[in-house]
Amino acid sequence: MDRHTILLVEDSRFFGQMVRDRIEEELDLSVDWATSMAEAISLIEARSDDYLAVLHGLSLPDADEGDMARYVTEKGLPALVFTATFSNESRHRIAALGVADYVLKENPKAIDTVLDTIRRIRSNPDTRVLVVDDSPTALTKIRKLLQAHRYEVLTAADGKAALRIMDEVPDIKLVLTDFNMPSMDGFELTRRIRENFPKDRLAIIGLSSERDEMLSARFIKLGANDFLKKPFIAEEFYCRVQHSLDMLQQIETIRELSYRDPLTKLANRRCFFESAQAFIHRAQQAGERLCLAMLDIDHFKKVNDTYGHDTGDAVISNVATLLDTAFPEGEALTARFGGEEFAVLLRHAPERDPVLLFDGFRRTLEQSPAHASGGNISVTISTGLCLDISGSLHQTLSAADENLYRAKEQGRNRVVSGVCELKD
Ligand SMILES: [Mg+2]
Repeated sequence: MDRHTILLVEDSRFFGQMVRDRIEEELDLSVDWATSMAEAISLIEARSDDYLAVLHGLSLPDADEGDMARYVTEKGLPALVFTATFSNESRHRIAALGVADYVLKENPKAIDTVLDTIRRIRSNPDTRVLVVDDSPTALTKIRKLLQAHRYEVLTAADGKAALRIMDEVPDIKLVLTDFNMPSMDGFELTRRIRENFPKDRLAIIGLSSERDEMLSARFIKLGANDFLKKPFIAEEFYCRVQHSLDMLQQIETIRELSYRDPLTKLANRRCFFESAQAFIHRAQQAGERLCLAMLDIDHFKKVNDTYGHDTGDAVISNVATLLDTAFPEGEALTARFGGEEFAVLLRHAPERDPVLLFDGFRRTLEQSPAHASGGNISVTISTGLCLDISGSLHQTLSAADENLYRAKEQGRNRVVSGVCELKD
C-alpha cells in the first residue's frame, strides 16, 4: 500500500507552514495539517491508511505531554515528535513512547533531520530485517523499534530457526543477532550465515549484554558488520541499523555504476562478460537454443558530426530502448559494448529463427526514429550473428564480429549470420 500523506499536528502557524512547504517541495508528499489533537484524531480515524507518518509537537493545546505520541504509536503509525526542550529526562520519557524520532524545534537542522527520517520510513517497508534472540522481551523491544520505522520484521528465537528463515525468505538485508542463545550462539550463527551471504549483500549486527570486552571484536571478525551492546538507547539503535543499511546501499550503487552503462542503463561490457556463462548455462538447462548478435549503428559518426553529441546520445538511447523491448531481460543478455556497438546473447525456442528475429529488429529500428532536439533522426543498424555458441565466449564473439564486418562491407542495414543472409 502506498502512503503519500504526512499528518502534521502543529498549532504554530509560522512553524507549521515552513514544515509543510518543505515536505511538499522536497519529498513530493502531501500534508494534512491539524492544529489540535482532537482534529488530528478525527483525521486519523478517517484515513489512517493514507498516512506515512505523523509529525507533531510533544505538547498540544488540548493534550498533555506525550498524549499525542501515545495515540499515534498505538495506531501503528510512526510518530515524529518536535520538542522545545531536550533534557535527558524528557528524552527517556519520549523514547519510552516508541516514537520513530524526535527533534529539537529550535535546532535549525531539525527539519533536515525530519525529512531524512521521512525518506527512510518511506523506503523501509522494502527492507527485510531478521531479529534473532532467545529472550522474548528483547525480541519484542527490537521488533517495536524496527516497526516504528516501518521495516519489515521477521523474528527467530534461536539460530536454527534463523537459518531456516534465511533459507526460505529471500532478500533479507539485515540480521540482528543476540550472542548468548541455547544450541547455537550468535558467533556460530554469524559464521554460518556468512557461508552463503557475503558482507556486501547482507548486514549483520551482533547484540549482547555480556560484559566481555572481546565480544564485539569477535563478532566482527566472524563477519558481523557491527556490534551493539545491550541495553541500548533508541537513537543508538537506529543509527547503527541505518549505518549498516546505508553501507549496503552505497555498495549497491557502486555495483550498479560499475556494471551499467550510464547512458542506456544496459549492462556494460564487463557485466556482459561476467554474466554470460551463467546465462548460457541456464538456457542450456532449459533446453533452449542460443545465439549471439553484435550490432553496430550505421554511419553513426555522421549523426554526431551533423547534429552534435546530444543527438548522438539520443540515437544510442533509442536503439537501446528498442533492443530492450525486442529482447527483454530474462530472454536476452543485452549490453552496450562501447560507442554505437551492442551485443545481444539471446535464448530462444528451437523453432524460432534468430536471423528473422534480428531482421525484425532491424526493420523496427528503421521505422522508429529517435526524437532529438534536432528533430526526428532515423538510423539503420548492421548485425553480425553467431548461431553456434559451442566454442568459447571469445570465439563466439569474434565469429559474430566477423559477420558484422561482412554486413558493413555488403552495404550495411542487414543481418549476416554466415549461414544465410537477409537484406532489402
Ligand atoms: Mg540471549
